[in-house]
Amino acid sequence: MTSRDGFQWTPEEGLAQGIPSIGVISPPTNILSGSKPWDVIVVGGGYSGLTAARDLCVAGLRVLLVEARDRIGGRSWSSNIGGYPFEMGGTWVHWGQPHVWREISRYQMRTDMEPSFDFSRGVNHFQLRTNDGTSIMSHEDEDTLLATALQKFVNVDGSLGRKIIPFAHDSFHVPEARQYDSMSAKDRLDVIAPSLTPNERAALESFVLLCSCGTLETTSFFEFLHWWALCGYTYQGCMDSLISYKFKGGQSSFAIRFFEEALSTGRLSYAFNSPVEAIKDEGSKVTLTTRDGRQYSGARLVSTIPLNVLNSISFYPPLDTQRMAAANQGHVNQCVKVHAEISNKDMRSWTGISYPFNKLMYAIGDGTTPAGNTHIVCFGGFNNHIHPEEDVRETRKAVENMAPGNMDIKRLVFHNWSKDEYAKGAWFFSPPGLLSTSLDALRRRHGNVVFANSDWAVGWRSFIDGAIEEGTRAAMTVKEELQSNPSPRLRL
Ligand code: FAD
Repeated sequence: MTSRDGFQWTPEEGLAQGIPSIGVISPPTNILSGSKPWDVIVVGGGYSGLTAARDLCVAGLRVLLVEARDRIGGRSWSSNIGGYPFEMGGTWVHWGQPHVWREISRYQMRTDMEPSFDFSRGVNHFQLRTNDGTSIMSHEDEDTLLATALQKFVNVDGSLGRKIIPFAHDSFHVPEARQYDSMSAKDRLDVIAPSLTPNERAALESFVLLCSCGTLETTSFFEFLHWWALCGYTYQGCMDSLISYKFKGGQSSFAIRFFEEALSTGRLSYAFNSPVEAIKDEGSKVTLTTRDGRQYSGARLVSTIPLNVLNSISFYPPLDTQRMAAANQGHVNQCVKVHAEISNKDMRSWTGISYPFNKLMYAIGDGTTPAGNTHIVCFGGFNNHIHPEEDVRETRKAVENMAPGNMDIKRLVFHNWSKDEYAKGAWFFSPPGLLSTSLDALRRRHGNVVFANSDWAVGWRSFIDGAIEEGTRAAMTVKEELQSNPSPRLRL
């Protein structure tokens, strides 16, 4: 099936919107007319919503899943072009991520993983392009460069961040950690600037921007420290957890397992192509209204609508001012992820940074396509932003600028997350101040509406793992209320 989402460009066919994915659900609904109110309505079919819907169905509750898109997966989905999975959003997972790995084990998919990097043949080097020129170095030297620069960046406590964030899943455990949420990455860079070589500075800035995809000024230094703590306080931990291991069949091959399990209970109703416009809590039930005027009711509603989209939904009673302020501020991640299929087979073992002049800043060899071409995945952000489909020539130039002379492009594949009205950005990354003021408010329930999204997870916030953490939390809360004790929990 072909999704409306995503773009593909080839020299022969030019630009086309819509790419194939096994995450597309057809027919888009299984609701029969005259269906009774549901126990729970889950809004959103990303990993938070899929986890909540599945757990609630398995627990014996009747669930309606309502999703704006034509597919499951939300910000994590893959397109199978010629049988090869191009990951449009969330991709890499790691066994150190507890919630996602439990699911991988549960679905017996632990042998369905493969590494992104393959340094066994070809150029086998790292190419650093800065305003000062180009350096080619070994991957060992790449690791040393980045590890050295990152250690200077995070070492606020003489322990590489271990003292300030000793518990990565309780990141404000040490109250002094909050001070770093009022600092931006730029503030911290200014402090350590005299100790950095020019190459360290360029590599460090591009790595930090690869994580936030904002600008150095809009990136919370605390949130970077939180990522660092999650990754075991090392650069190698970051590489292992953030960018190394992916599904051979693509993310959609994982997401579909949640959906199929929920469906197999016989208790899952679903409506795709159904953007929600309003959510009304009437005390005895919650009613949602879709843009085309359909109404569905349930005893509880789990909203997995992302932070940057929350203020486009009308809630009654209105959401509290703290949550609304956070939604209006939003997270800062405007990642541009572009896949390029190139003819040069030797580039499989290449990695590169082109910063700050280029519209894409970080890229790696990520696979070999069925045609024998090299698959390169490139990342850019808000610091030098593009909308790839608006000017494909500029996008191609940005890919070519990553390694001039070595990028003979046969195909581009991408999803424009900034223009996606159901995401308005990529993975969560906090601006300074948002987390210390609003994380608790974002996690709070609102009457019979429970909120779940990776954007406000406490552990691997911003990751697939955080989405599953949140979907699990929401399902547990609702299950306890509807199945045993009817009084709502006061706190989540
Ligand atoms: P979402 O996936 O956003 O799900 C919310 C759902 O709500 C969506 O399906 C959306 O369509 C739906 N929705 C929104 N508005 C409405 C509405 N009005 N009516 C009905 N439905 C609505 N994570 C990793 O772990 N590893 C990675 O390598 C990684 N890389 C990433 C790269 C990119 C480019 C992006 C975008 C994300 C990446 N992430 C990664 C992050 C990860 O994808 C997300 O954190 C996770 O998928 C979020 O899941 P979620 O269910 O909480 O939210």
